[in-house]
Amino acid sequence: MPSSNKLIRVGKSKIHGKGVFAACDIPKGTWIIQYKGEKVSKREGTRRSREHEKQGFVWVFSLNRWYDIDGSVNGNEARFINHSCSPNCEAVNYRDKEIWIVARRDIKKGEELTYDYGFSEDECMCPVCSSKKS
Ligand SMILES: [Zn+2]
Repeated sequence: MPSSNKLIRVGKSKIHGKGVFAACDIPKGTWIIQYKGEKVSKREGTRRSREHEKQGFVWVFSLNRWYDIDGSVNGNEARFINHSCSPNCEAVNYRDKEIWIVARRDIKKGEELTYDYGFSEDECMCPVCSSKKS
């Protein structure tokens, strides 16, 4: 998939489906990409996230007390960034208006970008949490 953002590229992930990879070395603290999507009410966001869950995806992001962002509608590459419990990025809320994916540490070219979706350990399917459960 072509990317409008020179810092990243989308490719096949070892974690889940598609993933987002560093297209160059990215220094700690870089605001890499905004998490875009349709702004919807909390009620609508909750309804949609239940629908997405059935398909095994997490696309609805909490923006503030009133609104969610649905990355599956008018979203960008940020929606392909996978979850990790030891992530190299974090989701930063900018003035309750925007969500940005920011590098938590220096990231090498080719590394898959991840951030913590905020799952509880029970619902998290990452390799680390899955191994704790078994
Ligand atoms: Zn986990």
